[in-house]
Amino acid sequence: MPAEIRLFLCRSDNYGVLLHDPATGATAAIDAPEAAPIEKALAETGWKLTDILVTHHHADHTDGIRALKDKYKCRVVAPAAEASKIPAVDETVSEGDKVKVGNLSANVIETPGHTLGHIAYWFHADKLAFVGDTLFSIGCGRVIEGTPGQMWQSLRKLRDLPDDTEVYCGHEYTATNIKFALTIDENNPVLEARAAQVQQLTEEGAPTIPVSIGDEKLANPFLRADVPDLAADIGMAGEPAEKVFAEIRERKNKF
Ligand code: ZN
Ligand code: FE
Repeated sequence: MPAEIRLFLCRSDNYGVLLHDPATGATAAIDAPEAAPIEKALAETGWKLTDILVTHHHADHTDGIRALKDKYKCRVVAPAAEASKIPAVDETVSEGDKVKVGNLSANVIETPGHTLGHIAYWFHADKLAFVGDTLFSIGCGRVIEGTPGQMWQSLRKLRDLPDDTEVYCGHEYTATNIKFALTIDENNPVLEARAAQVQQLTEEGAPTIPVSIGDEKLANPFLRADVPDLAADIGMAGEPAEKVFAEIRERKNKF
């Protein structure tokens, strides 16, 4: 039976996600930005929380853990490298580990850069990836703890996932990201099409995610730092991809 997903906003622009395995009833929250909206989503679906899968230690991804753990006695899975900064951790994971949610199975992918221990959860059979604050639609996370080179390698790992992988990210930043992306990659028809789609979704008050890796890698300038035409457009023809990436990230920081 295919996985079921419930997506909803938490705080101001964080996404809460519930992943449900109908065969076993297991239900995971991907991160816990805030307990109340997660409890509301559980009440609306009738699902019972069994697991919390944490992508990284920032408070806007972990503040809800303690209250949910107290109420549901759920298992908390977190990146080994950040476990000491995350409350109520039961199990730590790192690159290549498998995490089960009922019968659903994820591979752990380490994606350092935003934070040093950041991980993504890739449910291969279900064609789903939960990428936290590493990859956003038409953007990427700020490089806070790692280096731009690390972040570029992490984004390449996500870009290498199968094109039909549906990506869930940690924040609704897509409209702002598109405004910036158009300053970098203004003649990209795929980006223009995404801009039109996102404008409509935003007017409807609908989420702009998930997005497929196949679509995202054609439109997201942070996944295109090794495209020669893009480097040339920003005056960096022939420069290595990680330098081009660092320049695009720097321009976004100032945008
Ligand atoms: Zn973060
Ligand atoms: Fe965040």
